[in-house]
Amino acid sequence: MANHLQEVIARIEKARIAYSRHQIIKLVAISKYWEDSQIIDLYQSGQRAFGENKVQDLKRKALDLDRYPLEWHFVGNLQENKINTLISLKPALIHSIDSLKIAKALQMRLEREGLRQKALMQINSAKEETKGGVAPEEAYELYHRIQEECPNLIMEGVMTIGAHTEDPNKIKESFETTQKIYETLPNAKILSMGMSRDFELAIACGANLLRIGSALMG
Ligand SMILES: *Cc1c(COP(=O)(O)O)cnc(C)c1O
Repeated sequence: MANHLQEVIARIEKARIAYSRHQIIKLVAISKYWEDSQIIDLYQSGQRAFGENKVQDLKRKALDLDRYPLEWHFVGNLQENKINTLISLKPALIHSIDSLKIAKALQMRLEREGLRQKALMQINSAKEETKGGVAPEEAYELYHRIQEECPNLIMEGVMTIGAHTEDPNKIKESFETTQKIYETLPNAKILSMGMSRDFELAIACGANLLRIGSALMG
């Protein structure tokens, strides 16, 4: 298997220039399907930021690879019984806060450990039952409540997964919904959206953090 980092970066760059030459875009490689050796291969090609969607996998890979200066992101569904493990790993960013309950559970443990944690709120922008995330119409209020009630969580913006469909108009709609919310949030600086099949569309809607897995390897 070869890595496609250079091809993906070239595609990102093309879409970025078409959107705005001034846009700065970060690529987080989602390593959930990969062996350690493939992560090392991508690191050696220049990739530093990686993400996982299961706390146990994040823990194992972060510990296995701790001799490399990797930056780890958590992008999966958050469960209360995994919070202690997750915050002890001090991920660079948790992308998936989707309720006040989980935010408060994080807050309680962060406070107890004397830690602060950067995080995003996940938005269920296409209103799909199978997906986590806050309903778009509740996002603004909930984001502010989390900021007020959870001071150890540093809220930096929002994340979404594009609509699960082949129709680019529907996918674009879900990204635009998220972009609109992002633009109303004071001090938000991260708009995390765009995966292997839709990252160019996400860039066209202002994404500045992409989460790409399968397109990088295979
Ligand atoms: C798996 C995953 C990705 C990457 O998906 P690909 O289609 O492999 O690029 C991005 N975000 C989340 C939340 C994921 O679970």
